[in-house]
This record gives sequence, C-alpha cells and structure tokens, in this order.
Amino acid sequence: MRGKWDVLEEYFGYRSFRPGQEALVDGLLAGREVFGLMPTGAGKSLCYQVPALAMDGVTLVVSPLISLMKDQVASLIQSGVRAAYLNSSLTARQYQLALERAGQGQYKIIYVAPERLLTEGFQRLAGRLAISLVAVDEAHCVSQWGQDFRPSYLKIRQFVEGLPHRPPVGAFTATATAQVRRDVVQLLGLRDPVVQCTGFDRPNLFFQVEKPADKDSALLAHLREAEGQSGIVYCATRKTVEEVCLSLNAAGFSAVRYHAGLSDEERRRNQEDFLYDRASVMVATNAFGMGIDKSNVSFVIHYNMPKNMEGYYQEAGRAGRDGSPAKCILLYSGQDVVTNRFLIRTGSEENEELDEEQRERVRRLDEERLKKMTFYCFTSDCLRAYILRYFGETAPDHCGNCGNCLTNFEEQDVTEAAAAILACVRACGQRYGRKTIAAVLLGGEKGKRNETARRHSLDELPQFGSLSGLQEHTVYEIMRFLEEQGLLAVSPGEYPLLQLTPQSARVLQKGERVRMKLPKEQEAPQRRRSRKAVEIPDTQRPELFSRLRALRSRLAARQGVPAYVVLTDRALREIAALMPRSEDELLAVNGMGRAKLEKYGRDFLSVVQEYREETGKNS
Ligand code: ADP
Ligand code: MG
Repeated sequence: MRGKWDVLEEYFGYRSFRPGQEALVDGLLAGREVFGLMPTGAGKSLCYQVPALAMDGVTLVVSPLISLMKDQVASLIQSGVRAAYLNSSLTARQYQLALERAGQGQYKIIYVAPERLLTEGFQRLAGRLAISLVAVDEAHCVSQWGQDFRPSYLKIRQFVEGLPHRPPVGAFTATATAQVRRDVVQLLGLRDPVVQCTGFDRPNLFFQVEKPADKDSALLAHLREAEGQSGIVYCATRKTVEEVCLSLNAAGFSAVRYHAGLSDEERRRNQEDFLYDRASVMVATNAFGMGIDKSNVSFVIHYNMPKNMEGYYQEAGRAGRDGSPAKCILLYSGQDVVTNRFLIRTGSEENEELDEEQRERVRRLDEERLKKMTFYCFTSDCLRAYILRYFGETAPDHCGNCGNCLTNFEEQDVTEAAAAILACVRACGQRYGRKTIAAVLLGGEKGKRNETARRHSLDELPQFGSLSGLQEHTVYEIMRFLEEQGLLAVSPGEYPLLQLTPQSARVLQKGERVRMKLPKEQEAPQRRRSRKAVEIPDTQRPELFSRLRALRSRLAARQGVPAYVVLTDRALREIAALMPRSEDELLAVNGMGRAKLEKYGRDFLSVVQEYREETGKNS
C-alpha cells in the first residue's frame, strides 16, 4: 500500500485535499465503506481515485454515463494511471479485448456501466480480479425519489454481495435530499459508512435571475461581456436550442448545439468542439452535461427556467469547476412555467416503466419541484441562501455574490437593535437561548406570549417588546451577525445559551456603531439592474497566459485530448504568475503531477523562459 500524499502529489499534482476529501480517502484506506455528498465540482472522483492507487488490487467504478467514463479515463491516462472503461460504446471486439487485458491485470481502475455488472463476461472477470474497492459515482441514480432514477443501479448491491470477497463500497453524489440519502445507504447496502456531507455552497459562483422583455438581446449582451470565454446556454426544448444556436451563429459567436434529436455523430462532434475550445458556446438541452468535467466553463446561462432546483443547481454547477469566479444566470419568463408543466405531463406519460399510481405520484412531486423553482425566480432574498436551504443547509441571509444581494440589500445601521439584544442577554443573566431572547425583544412569540418568558417574568424587563417593530427573522439575523462579529457568544451543549463576550462592551458601553447588510425596504421599486458584472480577477501577464494556452492547445491536439485534461486554466494562471524556472518550481503549480511534468514540463518551462527573455530585453 502506498501513502495517500504520495499518490495525491505524484498523479494529481495536488498538495492538499479539499474539504471532505481526506475523511473519505482515510475511510476507504481503512477498509470502511463511505458515502460522500459533495456538490458538483467539489472533487468527488479524487476520493476514490486516490485510495484506488494507494491500495493493492483493482478498483471498479460504476458510473451511469458513457461520456462521463470516457472523460475520466482520458484524464486518468493523462495523469499516468492505467485505466479503462467497459460500456456499450465499445464494439464487441474492443470489449472482449478490454476484458482480456483487465483479466491480465493491466488496469488499476476500471469504469463499468451498471447494466454490465451481472453479465456473464464481466462476472467471470470479477471472479478473477482482486477487487480492492467498488466506487459508485452519481449514487443518487439508485433512488426513485431522485431525478435520475436508473433501475440498473439496483443491481450493484447484488453484484457486490456476489463477489468472493466483498470489497468496501464508496458512494458519491452531488444531489440528495434526505429521502434519496436514505435510499443510497439502503439500496446499495452500505455497511456503517463514513458519511461526509460538505457544504453545497460554491462561493465562486455568482447567481442572478433576470426577467428580460427580450431574452435574445439579454443573452447576446452577456455573451459579449464574456467574449472569448467558454460557456453553456441551456434551453428547455430542442426547438429553442436550434433557434438560439442559429441566432448566436448569426451574431458571430462560435456556438454549437446539443440535444437528443441530433445524430450521434453530430452530438459527438459538437461536444468535442466545445471541450476542445474550438467552439466557445454550447447551446443545449439538459441532455448535455452529465459527466462534462470541463473545468474552464466561466458561465452557464439558462435561456429557460429548468423544471427543478436539482436540475438547475447541477447545470449551473458546471460553471467554475476549477474554482475561478464564474456566472450562473437564469433568464425567466412566464412561458417557461407553461413549457415545464407540459414537459412534466408528457414526461410522466412516456415513462412506460411506471404504473398509473406511480405516474400520478411522480407528477405531483414534479409539480411541487417546479413551484419551488419558480419561487427561486421571484424571491428578492439572497439567491444562494435560497439554493442552500432548498438542499437542507443553513445559510446566512446575505452572500454578497448574487444578483439579489447586490441590488436588494444595503448596509444599514443596526446599532440600536444590537444594543437591545446585548442588553437583553445581560438582563436575563445569560441564561437563555436565542428563541427566548428573541421572544422577549419582540414582545411575544408569533402573536403568542412565550411560555418561558412569562414563567420567568421576563416580560417585566425594560427590553420586553423593544424590537417589536422588526420581523422575527431579522432579529435572528442580527443575532447571527453579532455572533459572527464576536460580539455575542453561544455556549456549547444541548441547550445553547446566548452570552456576552469581552467585545460586547464595545457596543454596550462605548457606543460603537454596528452596520450590516439587510434587505432594502420593500417599497423601493425592485429595479433589477443586471449589467453589473462580477469581476473575473485579471490574469497576471495576459500575454504569457495566452502563450501558455496556445501551447496547451498544441499539446492537447497532438494527443487528441481536450485542453483542460492537459492542464486547467487555473494551473496556467499559476504558471503565468509564478514564472517557474525549474522543474521543481513547476511542480509547485496546483495540478502539475509527475506524469504531466515529464510529458509537458520542458515545453511549459521554455515558453516561460522565452517570455522572460523577451520582456527582460524590453524593460
Ligand atoms: P465532482 O465529481 O465532485 O463534480 P470532480 O471530481 O470532477 O468533481 O473534480 C472537479 C475538479 O476539481 C477537477 O478539475 C479536479 O481535478 C479538481 N480537484 C479535485 N480535488 C482537488 C484538490 N484536492 N486540489 C485541487 N483541485 C482538485
Ligand atoms: Mg463527478
């Protein structure tokens, strides 16, 4: 067995794990089963790839989509890993050959489609291999409550339990409501798994909803702003994809289209043009994207509102995977609701696997999801908070990086309310929790008098009702803000009590002002000015960056892989910033592992060197 750090650095070129990754890696290395719930782009693949390479034996990865496997295997091979996939994209001969090679132990990681697991050929192979780990990617597909139910996922459990030695199983997904989580654990038969649920937040994504009178010109304006960057435009129907793609081409953009009505050949070609940066914009239905790990997508624009938040967040999440700032913009119109209702109805009618009762239930669930999606388009609250709460997370009321926060919130002086809260905590002897303190300040709880407050005669305090002019949630929000600022503390334990801190005196005695972002008063007309763009931080040395990009394109073309598989934009930016002189310095760049260094190190160093000499002369 090898060390995880060695593997991480040698094959992937990273020196640290991202949140959640290490616990899952450690779990698998210790022989435990794991369940990783992490948002798109968080880095789930690494959680099973690192153990796969650290452990003796072979790792099987079950994955639902051919494009997904192909991409991941290409990436692994680039990183110097012996990997292969087994699915229906191979001819019978190729498949046999791959099985043979696998049987001879030529692969360390094998991706396999779920419907292959119980086939004779694969069963024979599985009986011979020393399987150290079975990883289930997109594990939500096992649940009929999720939005991508795949009955073939139900075979995974049978497969694993039929193996001579049951290896540990790791399950990974980005979308899972509570119900889907239970299904994953139960239907895959996970045994006492280590569960890691990292936040769903993607701080580098900027969210915005617009309701333009003319979607086409709104779209064009966004694309002009993002000139030269790569992005996806999602549409609800095939017809809209065709129209939008034509109009973008007419306006001079290199856009390609993707939907289920096109020939396999055209879909493949368009997808590759996009992945290889030959086309900068992909116009697509939701048929496009699962398994598209293109890391330099800098915007995702929804020309139509999707059917549900799960779909929206997954599609929007394809932006900014490498951690660079990226935009997710939704162009809403009332017609979108009508279209989606129609799609929901026909969708449930077309699914022949369902009986009438199931169909009715699916339809009801879908309608409910559509409603929540529509609320997203109409809320004037923080969009990020809306998303995170939808997925069952807590979130502050204000993120500062969404369209609503930029336009609907403003900094307000809350000194009086803050002082009242702190004074109330003190007057109550620091013996009560948030709920009671809020009830006292509001002068009762939602119209009723708070029982605790009454019993302890807290309604006789001078602070009683002193914040009755505020909304309950605003009082909570100010408390949360005070905690964040260290002006208020919460005791640990089962019944958290609000307590003062040494800093509280700054407000209580020294009259320090407290300012925080709160929603603007509602009477102000909600003008949604949208032109304000998020700043994409300037690439240092744009000239060098573009030369590095050109080199990357050449290297990628030579090998027939997408550019980002060679190195991400982010890695190129780092090279441009660091201007490494030696292979050792180049290794310090995130994403530059041993295999890549050997393959490309000299090429990148010589571009940097050349640039250094030229600019040295000029200055
Ligand atoms: P997910 O499957 O969770 O959507 P991926 O596994 O496709 O995400 O990873 C997304 C991106 O994050 C990839 O480009 C990957 O190389 C990068 N990544 C993963 N782990 C790390 C890490 N520890 N440090 C830096 N980048 C990472
Ligand atoms: Mg993934």
